[in-house]
Amino acid sequence: MSAKPPNPTRATAPSTPPTAPGTPRDLVGIGIGPANLSLAALAHGLPQHLQPLVTAFYEQRPAFHWHPGQLLEDAHLQVPHLADLVTLADPTSPWSYLNHLRDQQRLYPFYFGEQHRIPLADYDTYCRWVSDRLPALHYSHQVDAVRWNPQHALFEVDFTQLDADGEAEALGRTHTKNLALGVGTAPYVPEPLRPLADAPTVPVIHAADYLTHRERLLTADHITVIGSGQSGAEIFLDLLRARPARHEKLHWLARTEAFALREHSALGLEHLTPDHTRHFHALPEAVRDRLAPGQGRLHRGVDADTLAAIHDELYRRTRDGGWPDATLTPGVTVRTAGRLAGTKIELHLEHAEQATRSRLTTDAVILATGYRERPLDQLLAALDPHLHRDDTGRPRIDSCYRLALDPAITRTGSNIYVQNAERHTHGAGAHDLGLAAWRSATILNALTGATPYPLPTRTAFTTFGLPGPRGERTPPGPDGSHGTLVHLKG
Ligand SMILES: Cc1cc2nc3c(=O)[nH]c(=O)nc-3n(C[C@H](O)[C@H](O)[C@H](O)COP(=O)(O)OP(=O)(O)OC[C@H]3O[C@@H](n4cnc5c(N)ncnc54)[C@H](O)[C@@H]3O)c2cc1C
Repeated sequence: MSAKPPNPTRATAPSTPPTAPGTPRDLVGIGIGPANLSLAALAHGLPQHLQPLVTAFYEQRPAFHWHPGQLLEDAHLQVPHLADLVTLADPTSPWSYLNHLRDQQRLYPFYFGEQHRIPLADYDTYCRWVSDRLPALHYSHQVDAVRWNPQHALFEVDFTQLDADGEAEALGRTHTKNLALGVGTAPYVPEPLRPLADAPTVPVIHAADYLTHRERLLTADHITVIGSGQSGAEIFLDLLRARPARHEKLHWLARTEAFALREHSALGLEHLTPDHTRHFHALPEAVRDRLAPGQGRLHRGVDADTLAAIHDELYRRTRDGGWPDATLTPGVTVRTAGRLAGTKIELHLEHAEQATRSRLTTDAVILATGYRERPLDQLLAALDPHLHRDDTGRPRIDSCYRLALDPAITRTGSNIYVQNAERHTHGAGAHDLGLAAWRSATILNALTGATPYPLPTRTAFTTFGLPGPRGERTPPGPDGSHGTLVHLKG
């Protein structure tokens, strides 16, 4: 599996003593995925009456590439193009998707094509277009450690510069008043399948690496796809279309009860608005933890077009009589897995509702088993004594996406902002591209203290929660004031 970081051989953070800063930055971003790219774009476009921010963003990969192993030809973004890097915070920004299309002379075909969702590959191209034009983005730079320098009241950021092979080339250090952590997520492999994932002789591939291994996978006699999310569905459809009728030899297994539709109603999706984020953040920690698993329904499942395309493709294959050799079974857990004779894989399956177990022999497995937040612990190890944690040891994060740090740090005006590591405090919207511009704007408003990006105070028709003891509502009304509903005791 190539889910490993680009430079596995790098040394751990150099334990050099704190140094005097050269030119400190106002903001250093760690990781350049859509989240920090959005922040870099909006930071670059601050209104002229404000002092420009001195920024630097570091990314361990050699160039901007968004999920390159999953850019299937027919795969589309699950959000409209308005959820680009900037538009929902600043529709006048030059870094919008529409301006990218204009620059590429594609605006009119886009308009006549009435595409409401854009291909994943187009989103990748758009982000690279932004990345190629923004200053102060440093690729092939892996950040190793962050620490606080009390003498200079700055964060020190240690990085390793990587060569073309991803090997350490040079070590460096920069100083900054503020940090934005945008290290994203890493492919997740369930425990029972981990021993298989590194087997060189049998292809067991995470969906993240699908396109790299597609040709080899297609030579396998029988293929199993595990996972019923959007990626699992897209990969299953791609394999199905590539196999001859009657000889598909495919299994699609899912732990979920059904190959289900993901939430797509406008009212349902209001759970991904800033209003809901604010409401969720204000709930007690224990309540948030209870609600979090249920929020998965907002991201899990498959869009209607992909489910319909799978059904159409299967149906087309029944035209001449007979059924395709494809087995689609939900409600199944893979308990354990092992190799058979070095070339085959045996999956031990369980159907809990039916209380049955069986074995499946297959020649290749694709794990469409999702992603998990990259842990921040190693990166922030030196800051541990300054970090405030919740009852289960996770970092506390305030409504402006700031880690709760010792006042000794924050009263100097320095902060660490997080992007996409705040699901436990901000809810399901944390990973949603539709909130990226909002979050970047919120961060820049807090960091500059000058509200360069005024944000709407109301973003949903749904009112989340009841009024508070003084009649205040969450969220505030469109004029910024709180409503007047009366709080009833009891
Ligand atoms: C195929 C696919 C399609 C998706 N489609 C949608 C969608 O339609 N709508 C939606 O809302 N969400 C979607 N998502 C989910 C989510 O929006 C994306 O995963 C998005 O890329 C998250 O952005 P990010 O910037 O937080 O993290 P990432 O894109 O993961 O970027 C983080 C970056 O940080 C770098 N990094 C990590 N550690 C370091 C370090 N120490 N030093 C330097 N660099 C580091 C990594 O190399 C990486 O490039 C999709 C996810 C996938 C996999």
